[in-house]
Amino acid sequence: MKMNIMFDEQQVMMMALTISGNHVMCLDLKDNIVYDLHGKAMFGNNVGIEECYTYIHPDDRDKFRTFIERLSNGTDKVADCHYRWDYNYTGKGKPDWHDMYGRAIAEYEDGKPVNIIATLTDETEVKQKEREVEQLSERYKSIFENSIIGMSFYSPEGWLIDANRIMRKICHFDSDTSDEFFSKVNLFDMMPFNEVLDRVHPEDYWACSLSIVPERNMRVFLEISVHPIYDENDKLMYISVTANDVTEERNMYLNVMENDARMKKMNEAIKNYEAELRYMLEASKMQTWRISLERDTLEFYNGLNTVARSFNLRQMQKIFVDQEHEFVKALSNPSEVLKKPLVYVGQMYPVVTQSSTENQWVQINCIPEFDEHGKLLGAFGVWRNINDLMCKQDQLRKETMRAKESGQMKSLFLANMTHEIRTPINAIVGFTEVLSSLTGEEEKKEVIQIVKNNCDMLLRLINDILTASSLELGQMDIKPVEVDFSKAFNELFESLRPRVQEPGVEFVKDNPYAALPIKVDVDRVSQVITNFVTNAVKYTHQGHIKLGYRTETRTVGGKQLEGLYVYCEDTGDGIVPESQPRIFDRFFKVDDFVQGTGLGLSICKAFTDACHGDIGVISEGKGKGSVFWMWIPLSASSQ
Ligand code: ADP
Repeated sequence: MKMNIMFDEQQVMMMALTISGNHVMCLDLKDNIVYDLHGKAMFGNNVGIEECYTYIHPDDRDKFRTFIERLSNGTDKVADCHYRWDYNYTGKGKPDWHDMYGRAIAEYEDGKPVNIIATLTDETEVKQKEREVEQLSERYKSIFENSIIGMSFYSPEGWLIDANRIMRKICHFDSDTSDEFFSKVNLFDMMPFNEVLDRVHPEDYWACSLSIVPERNMRVFLEISVHPIYDENDKLMYISVTANDVTEERNMYLNVMENDARMKKMNEAIKNYEAELRYMLEASKMQTWRISLERDTLEFYNGLNTVARSFNLRQMQKIFVDQEHEFVKALSNPSEVLKKPLVYVGQMYPVVTQSSTENQWVQINCIPEFDEHGKLLGAFGVWRNINDLMCKQDQLRKETMRAKESGQMKSLFLANMTHEIRTPINAIVGFTEVLSSLTGEEEKKEVIQIVKNNCDMLLRLINDILTASSLELGQMDIKPVEVDFSKAFNELFESLRPRVQEPGVEFVKDNPYAALPIKVDVDRVSQVITNFVTNAVKYTHQGHIKLGYRTETRTVGGKQLEGLYVYCEDTGDGIVPESQPRIFDRFFKVDDFVQGTGLGLSICKAFTDACHGDIGVISEGKGKGSVFWMWIPLSASSQ
């Protein structure tokens, strides 16, 4: 190690250098040796200048060489230096670069540089810190710039200092760095801050509102917060403003709300529609059903989807009454028969609606249901109880038939009528002519009786026709009067006696009461009895005709009613059972060739109907005689 002469000043300087932690190196230009004057930059060794170069970072070496040369040749007397120095100069392992800053001076002897003395400070740590601060501020800058929230900084006076990317975008900045409008508008004058921020001591402020800045073509829904930053002495340093554009979220929210409202409305409409449909189905006695081949079920619903009854498909056929019907038979193979729409009308057992125990006429509409690949899933449709319809149809059919028959009868009646009227008139005219030529009193009496009988017949006929036509107009006057019916019956019986003229026929009376005071339309009752007896006379040629009556109590509509029962029993032709139900129909005659209009009994029936009574015939058949009877409630006739 080369020893230098130490001066006191030098010693003081060394001490100062030691305190400040600096290195002092010397390059001896004569020997080209570098050594430490102070510190351990050279690790206490004397090193040749060339070796010294290897201590320097390769990037700094040229600069270092130039610096040495300029001081050596006297170009520079003093020079600043900054080099990276390897503190791990062993030739092995990783270099340990230290930043050495300092200044070098050339030491002259006889006007020639002999030494270069360099004072160096290791500033690695300081630089490192500076770099770290730089990096940190870079990082903060990057965070600020790339934040997903718009941010800007304002000076305490309210002037824009910086705005990040998002903020520039939200505010439609002119360029990436500046904006004419916002750089000229003071924060404290801007809506809505002008109303809420105190210039002297602003406080935190948060708002979420629609921001409109027409000058910037801005219309956004922002979440804004203002955060003034104070130093430890409560002095306002910056004002930070953050803005979050929530327009999209808000629009989305509004859309969701709108959709919700629409859905709600739609749901309500569907509900109403369902209710209407259910009501319609119920009002028209319809119900829905569905067959699922996959689930192997046939379900009948109440309304649209409440299952009323469920069957498996094997039970399906058994629901129907007519097992021979083509549709019912085809149900044994549902996946085939259900492929096409169908309508079935037929009878079903009362298995679906338990309210009825009778078989029901139903109409079933069937629509196939396929999936998107055309695979048959089953079928669905509506079914309807058409019992009433079928009954009405049946009734209509019967009425049409009756009208047809009645039409035929009417024409027959008209044809008969000529004959019916002509016969008694011929008799009257003929016998009246004969009368003048007769001399014997007995003969005259006989002819007069014949004329009288024919007149009666004609009168009855005309009466019947008049009554029938008034009945056709819906008129039937019933005039009950107080009468001793026993007495009236006896008189009527006697007046009818002359009509029973056949020698082998006995006219028998059955009057059980000596007197019977009742209120009854005696004329009408007499008309009925006369009709019964006239008919009996016509068809009885042997035996008897018995005419009788009695009071009899019957139950009508749950009430016990006292009534008058009259009957006429004969041993005549009788009536075959198949004609009995129609015997009281108008114009009905068992034998069209027998005299008569077919009106008498229908008039009797109209009377009993008007009195809420009953009428009927009992006959065991052809040649077995018959009993015609009528019952009318006395209270009803009294009314
Ligand atoms: P008609 O004027 O033709 O007798 P009715 O209405 O009185 O009309 O009788 C209808 C039909 O009922 C008669 O045509 C007859 O065939 C049958 N009939 C009525 N009474 C008797 C009876 N007592 N015995 C047998 N048949 C009768």
